[in-house]
Amino acid sequence: MKKPIIDKAQAIEIKKTYPTPFHIYDEKGIKDNAVRLYDAFSWCDGFKEHFAVKATPNPTIMKILHSLGCGMDCSSMTELMLCEKCGIVGDDIMFTSNETPAEEYAYALRLGATITLDDITHVDFLAKIADGKMPEVVSLRYNNGKDFAINKQIMGTPQDAKYGMTREQLTQAVRKLQQLGVKRFGLHAFLASNNLGNDYYPALAGILFSTAKELHEETGADFKFVNLSGGIGIPYLPTDEMPDIYAISAGVKREYERAFDGDMKPSLRTELGRYMLGPYGNLITTVVHFKHIYKEYAGVDACAANLMRPAMYGAYHHITVLGKENAPCDHKYDVVGSLCENNDKFAVDRMLPELEIGDILAIHDAGAHGFSMGYNYNGKLRSAELLLREDGSVKLIRRAETPADYFATMVFD
Ligand SMILES: *Cc1c(COP(=O)(O)O)cnc(C)c1O
Repeated sequence: MKKPIIDKAQAIEIKKTYPTPFHIYDEKGIKDNAVRLYDAFSWCDGFKEHFAVKATPNPTIMKILHSLGCGMDCSSMTELMLCEKCGIVGDDIMFTSNETPAEEYAYALRLGATITLDDITHVDFLAKIADGKMPEVVSLRYNNGKDFAINKQIMGTPQDAKYGMTREQLTQAVRKLQQLGVKRFGLHAFLASNNLGNDYYPALAGILFSTAKELHEETGADFKFVNLSGGIGIPYLPTDEMPDIYAISAGVKREYERAFDGDMKPSLRTELGRYMLGPYGNLITTVVHFKHIYKEYAGVDACAANLMRPAMYGAYHHITVLGKENAPCDHKYDVVGSLCENNDKFAVDRMLPELEIGDILAIHDAGAHGFSMGYNYNGKLRSAELLLREDGSVKLIRRAETPADYFATMVFD
């Protein structure tokens, strides 16, 4: 059974200060999970997780992870600026973007971030911006173009994905970068997101380790790290299991020992987003209406603007009715938000306990790619983000938007 981050009594108490909908994160859950990840990879010298900022771009969350040794992975200018504001700079930042504007590379260079180039044409593009001052280390993103995806829902298959370079382009990119004075390299690939089971990282590691080794033999390039990127999944369905990070790490270690028996011993990096935060955030919302037409609808005060995944990919998010955890799930509902879009449904044909107006729902696994995908369609305002501290207290870590925020960018002549 999935356990919500807060119970009914806590939710009622929090609502007095912060009305629903809001996102709430579990500090202890986040920390324990990050510590476990580092423990699992303790065999690897210099292992580092660079949290994918886009998953949950919140300074408090980022600082918690940073205090446990994590760096960040950014994909845009404002994410770089956010890291800088959090005091996270230099090699603590991986900058992994695509179709990157020149000013973003310039900014990343200025912060001393480690840049992952998405394409061979970006070698010259970056060199022009660096103007003779290329960084010592550059990372390259590989797309092996082969069917690999275990979960195709989010990124499609590598052949269809817009990311990364071909195998031949990697060799060309390394040679060119060597001529430009780059000393060491990173190799990166992200071939599928939200992979359950324990096989994705080891399989990807096998490909990247042998590719790094080949590139080393071809060009003499020294690989400082291999970056396994994101992609470890989380159990959105109550019947799914959380991947076993120790089993995953052991699988990666086997591949590592097979590939690197000689002088080159790259360290490992990851850029997990979903795995770091997903299970440790709930969207809390209140039932405000019922409607019976051809189906039974329960209307809530959150909408897809607070959590887009169900609307965007039909993603399943488990729902707990707070205070009715042990009641039988003998009523069928579509749980819907108020957007003028018929995909604004958190759940379709979901069996739940009988709902009443005022019931508070916890929508699970909203900690990553949840709040961050929010938008203002229909004039909806982004909700607050709260942190359930280890001592049980609740801290506001982002206030809810107000109409003034919504109007701030408008021009009223
Ligand atoms: C989105 C993203 C991640 C994180 O992906 P998850 O599926 O959340 O682990 C990591 N690296 C890059 C480059 C990304 O775009």
